[in-house]
Amino acid sequence: MKKAYRVFLGAVLLLPLLFPLLAVINHGVALGVASPLMRVGISLTANHLVVTLERGDVITHQGNGATITLLPGTYRLENNGSAIRISDAAGKSYGVFDGPLQLVPAQGTFQLGNSRYGSSYRGSLEILLRGTDGLTVVNLVDMENYLRGVLPREVIPTWGNYGGMEALKAQAVAARSYALNHMARGSHSNDPYDLCDTQHCQVYGGKDGETANTDRAVAESRGRILAWNGNPIEAYFHSNNGGYTESSGNVWMTSFPYLISQPDPFDDPGNPNLQTHPHAIWEKDVPVKLLNNLLVGSGALATVEEVKIASVFPSERVNELRISGGGKTVSFLKERARTVLGLRSQLFSVREQPESRVWIASANTKESMTELEGKWAVSAHGIKRMLMGESYSALGVGGRDTVPYLAYIFEGRGWGHGIGMSQYGAYNRARAGQSYTEILSFYYPGTQLLNAY
Ligand SMILES: [Zn+2]
Repeated sequence: MKKAYRVFLGAVLLLPLLFPLLAVINHGVALGVASPLMRVGISLTANHLVVTLERGDVITHQGNGATITLLPGTYRLENNGSAIRISDAAGKSYGVFDGPLQLVPAQGTFQLGNSRYGSSYRGSLEILLRGTDGLTVVNLVDMENYLRGVLPREVIPTWGNYGGMEALKAQAVAARSYALNHMARGSHSNDPYDLCDTQHCQVYGGKDGETANTDRAVAESRGRILAWNGNPIEAYFHSNNGGYTESSGNVWMTSFPYLISQPDPFDDPGNPNLQTHPHAIWEKDVPVKLLNNLLVGSGALATVEEVKIASVFPSERVNELRISGGGKTVSFLKERARTVLGLRSQLFSVREQPESRVWIASANTKESMTELEGKWAVSAHGIKRMLMGESYSALGVGGRDTVPYLAYIFEGRGWGHGIGMSQYGAYNRARAGQSYTEILSFYYPGTQLLNAY
């Protein structure tokens, strides 16, 4: 197979290409030697921070470098309005410190009691004041250890046991590239960290979620990134593309030469021989009432007369969704056509006429009503959504009827924006024997795989 890029291994050859990366990897670590140190903002579930110190852990006061002596135990740190107060669980105060604090754990890991995505972290910790009542908590961690905490949150680690190791490695390269790209772009240039730990950047859960498979995927792709003109790429990924990838310009505003639209036979949810997302073929009812509200926003009377897909891209993803009624029309373009209705993907169709989606059901004898599968049903026990494959049993006076709850039925394929790498597509490609470099060259055509360090 002809590859869309060459794999460069010699660091000397790379220097001209990597020059733009110097601006990215500038955290005091020499290029070509070590995994760069990153600053990751850690989400907390409260304004204060709960941290557990082990024997030998050191907290220093960055303002003057002084060490704060604390015994092993659990402490609460909070912003008292102008400084950081440290107290223990019983409320006993251990002092107030006006500058950022740094925690360097003796064993290389530390424990947080109220972080949102994990509890145990590698590297060190910085604690800064935020406003007059909050704290900003930053995990200083090197890129490779960061990725060990990202992969298990973004992909299914057990795929490695079923022929999917190359997909996990492709994911590691994509995540590494994505992180460097966001750092270079300054996604968080207004924050005292490079990346956050949420979906805004990539979900990062520290050490807790690490698995043998994802650790191996990170190690076996160590330092490797995808680049375009020497810069790390926007390595977008998603769960399932419905059998066709999408150009970023057909979803958002910006196009990239390596994020293009092309058929992907390895991610066709209709192919029973593939492993595809269990909900990659979907159906959603959108109540007429909700569509009416969207139309009212355009100044029309609230009477939807037509819901129509006015144009599609070659992938059949929707370009324009049009809602008309009362002499007015409102259009939703590209990704907005999907998000305004809360649909799983932009690859969808809509049935011409609205249908009643709530049934009132009862029966003279205990009777199973398979026609209620997937619909809303009202009974003496309340209203419930019947699952696909679930049959509804009713016992009562007999008869079925509908109530005037009308909805337009949207049917679609895929989960996510469809841009860049499909995770399920990568999994199927790995199972079919493709290497991670082959997988990446399909999903990010024309990019170069190179060693950032
Ligand atoms: Zn972010």
